[in-house]
Amino acid sequence: MFEKILIANRGEIALRIQRACREMGIRTVVVHSTADTEAKYVKLADESVCIGPPPARESYLNMAAIISAAEVTDSEAIHPGYGFLSENADFAERVERSGFVFIGPHPENIRLMGDKVSAKQAMEKAGVPCVPGSEGALPEDIKETVRIARKIGYPVIIKAAAGGGGRGMRVVHTEAALLNAVNMTRSEALAAFGNATLYMERYLENPRHIEIQVLADSHKNAIYLGERDCSMQRRHQKIIEEAPAPELTDKQRAKIGERCAEACRKIGYRGAGTFEFLYEDGEFFFIEMNTRIQVEHPVTEMITGIDLVQEQIRIAAGEKLRLRQKDVTLRGHAIECRINAEDPYKFTPSPGKITSYHPPGGPGIRVDSHVYAGYSVPPNYDSMVGKLIAYGATRDQAIRRMRIALSEMAIEGIQTNLPLHRELLHDSRFLRGGTSIHYLEQKLAQENKQKVK
Ligand code: ADP
Repeated sequence: MFEKILIANRGEIALRIQRACREMGIRTVVVHSTADTEAKYVKLADESVCIGPPPARESYLNMAAIISAAEVTDSEAIHPGYGFLSENADFAERVERSGFVFIGPHPENIRLMGDKVSAKQAMEKAGVPCVPGSEGALPEDIKETVRIARKIGYPVIIKAAAGGGGRGMRVVHTEAALLNAVNMTRSEALAAFGNATLYMERYLENPRHIEIQVLADSHKNAIYLGERDCSMQRRHQKIIEEAPAPELTDKQRAKIGERCAEACRKIGYRGAGTFEFLYEDGEFFFIEMNTRIQVEHPVTEMITGIDLVQEQIRIAAGEKLRLRQKDVTLRGHAIECRINAEDPYKFTPSPGKITSYHPPGGPGIRVDSHVYAGYSVPPNYDSMVGKLIAYGATRDQAIRRMRIALSEMAIEGIQTNLPLHRELLHDSRFLRGGTSIHYLEQKLAQENKQKVK
């Protein structure tokens, strides 16, 4: 096992990785920008290295600075967390070429999944059901594109092969709007991702977002750890996640889960990963794979009792998976609320100093957060300040515990989305379970209309 790991990330996930390492007796080095010098997890790490000024491209995205930090601290492995360089194949390659272990998949698997056209083709070949769409990239010839759209059937969605973060896609309802939509998405894709490749899919009108967590080792063993329902979204950003997905049967879970595990074996995948699907009328449609730990991983940990970050580390150290599929049992229900520093209804970021902070507690409550009273939320990064997770024997109990925790939790000095979570945990459609990915936006639009009246 490693003696020292460098954490190339910040905020709650840097603290989460640090906790996993400490439990395993591994020393930690955390790199940070000057905006995060005062963060408590930086002080708690065995060592810390300042790698640059606040803008991410000069610090958390600065590959050379991170690799030199690993060199000067004699670290053996680098954990990239999520976001930043976590899905950058070039970084993974440079880490390995410099003689360190990258705690994540092989660079070629990151590259394969980072291009959504090649990802879909690989998954189709491996037997994972995909959204019906163009075979590969869209041709330049518009006549051919028109033909492809007719074959798929309207509405269709035009997507950038290199897209991410919910950007670089456009829904098209009629043939008349197709040419313009293709041209606009193409130039946006080129400007945002430096890659003009596009593909087309059928646009699903009312799907849920359900994703499968997998773990695979370097010895061709792969297992799935159930699913998460992340349908409560705004602008493709998840706000509440839960596991298991309401109404999904054991049979459905086993069928799609086994397909994902098999796909991992086929492509020689290593590490933790997530297969994201849209789910409509009882059918799963693959949209993309995330080749890293995800923000919402705690809900899976709560219902499986498996520490996913520790598993990532063991896999990177070359160990065989200790668990077989039959050892994975799902117990109870878990819900996660992402707590963001933002206006709860206008969603504008609200960085600044937290003047008082009271985290909740009690049975089944977990708070993953790096903040404290006196901490200043920097304006330079993502607005998430923590995650509140509630576990219960049933979904109903998890909801009750989450409501209590939300009522106890107090963060002052900045605005947070706690009021929105408190409202959603009493929303009758959420309580029933199984809302579509459009539900939250429709609800917010409705409420805005009522306010205007
Ligand atoms: P990104 O990498 O930018 O997150 P995804 O391919 O994962 O892109 O898609 C993000 C979101 O866009 C999905 O969660 C869903 O809300 C919507 N979306 C993507 N493809 C489709 C589709 N074929 N039909 C309906 N909605 C889609």
